[in-house]
Amino acid sequence: MERPYLNKELRRLVAKRADYLCEYCLISEQDTILGCAIDHIISIKHGGSSSADNLAYCCVYCNRFKGSDIGSIILDKKEFFRFYHPRWDNWGEHFKLNNSTIEPLTNIGQVTTAILGFNDQTRLLERQLLINKKKYPSPSAIRRMST
Ligand SMILES: [Zn+2]
Repeated sequence: MERPYLNKELRRLVAKRADYLCEYCLISEQDTILGCAIDHIISIKHGGSSSADNLAYCCVYCNRFKGSDIGSIILDKKEFFRFYHPRWDNWGEHFKLNNSTIEPLTNIGQVTTAILGFNDQTRLLERQLLINKKKYPSPSAIRRMST
């Protein structure tokens, strides 16, 4: 699939609007090794556009795990749930930080946490190091965590 072209101005707007945080796991871009990318919240193949309201700032981990997915199934419930949508949802309604673990509070939170790998071992370790250095959650991440 062809990569949509996002101009510099749009990229800057998305990054600034996100306060330079991954809008999914809330890590600050400055604390990532690989930086952040622009995510199509609803991927192009599912009908999403490249307008600002469908774009999110996203760390490379969240971006790679999410790919073009828009949700997942909870097998116990035999039901599909969409991912957390940074423009539609409040982070604090779907997730809660418990030490270094991001705990899901809803079905949307559960599928997002699972597929985006929020609590993979290396990410827990990274988050714990940032917590120890008082870099996570940042003041702007704390604002998003409160509902
Ligand atoms: Zn992330």
